[in-house]
Amino acid sequence: MIDYSFPLYRPPAEADNIIIQATLGCSHNRCSFCTMYKTKRYTIRPLNEVCREIEALAHTYPNANKVFLADGDALALPTDHLAKLLRLLKTSFPRLTRVSLYATAQNFLEKSIDELKELRAGGLSLAYFGIETGSDALLSKIDKGVNADQMIEALRRAHEANIKISATVILGIGGIEYTREHIHDTAKLINAAPITYLSTLQLGLEEGAKDRFLKAFDSFTPLNDLQILHEQRELLSLINPPQKIIFRSNHASNALHLSGTLPKDSKKLMAQIDDALRVGEGALIPKWFRGF
Ligand code: SF4
Repeated sequence: MIDYSFPLYRPPAEADNIIIQATLGCSHNRCSFCTMYKTKRYTIRPLNEVCREIEALAHTYPNANKVFLADGDALALPTDHLAKLLRLLKTSFPRLTRVSLYATAQNFLEKSIDELKELRAGGLSLAYFGIETGSDALLSKIDKGVNADQMIEALRRAHEANIKISATVILGIGGIEYTREHIHDTAKLINAAPITYLSTLQLGLEEGAKDRFLKAFDSFTPLNDLQILHEQRELLSLINPPQKIIFRSNHASNALHLSGTLPKDSKKLMAQIDDALRVGEGALIPKWFRGF
């Protein structure tokens, strides 16, 4: 019924929800580890086209209560355009409780607090946000387009507008060479920025990304699964967030699945990691069973 433009990505938590492509591609599209939208040029889809799809989906799924706006950073849309979409979603899906999207730090920095509050009032309640790392050196190497202070400012703006943040950090993104800086600076960032959800993923480079990613490093030694667990443990030990965080490491890439609330469950989670480290590879999800 809907003629989606592929590839189409959505967070695992949105698997059962309505997906509407408000934009195509990613307005940044430069992160060196990411190949998601390399085949697409960032495009704002015409409002009338998207509205027709919303009406068709509402006709088929009148009781749907959650909508995810794709593609890579629908928050890049001009505020009035996004506000119109939110109004239509509200009237089309009477049971709507959540509208979410992927967003970059740049998206939050380009909007005023009042604009963000207007979008929140329109129903935008959750943004999926890639922190990846809190290290300025690594943020520059991976071409994230912002430094850690800008990332913190973006997350504070989201908080002030009451838009929840589900953030991701990529374990192993600095290799052995940057492991200490990666984890310490990432913990520092998380301790300075109010987020609601945190997931840690493991670095996995597709062929199309490898050369450009590695070119930014003089030397890059990938971490093995056990070294990744040490990073995970260190990160948990250093996180002391300004508000409680619901933590998950249950992405397809993760060798060990963990879940809890931080900082309440930090010690329990570290003990789980210690148990796995004692057993070694045998305690981990086999590589062939995982996706990156
Ligand atoms: S902002 Fe997100 S989708 Fe865009 S290139 Fe970076 S990681 Fe990929």
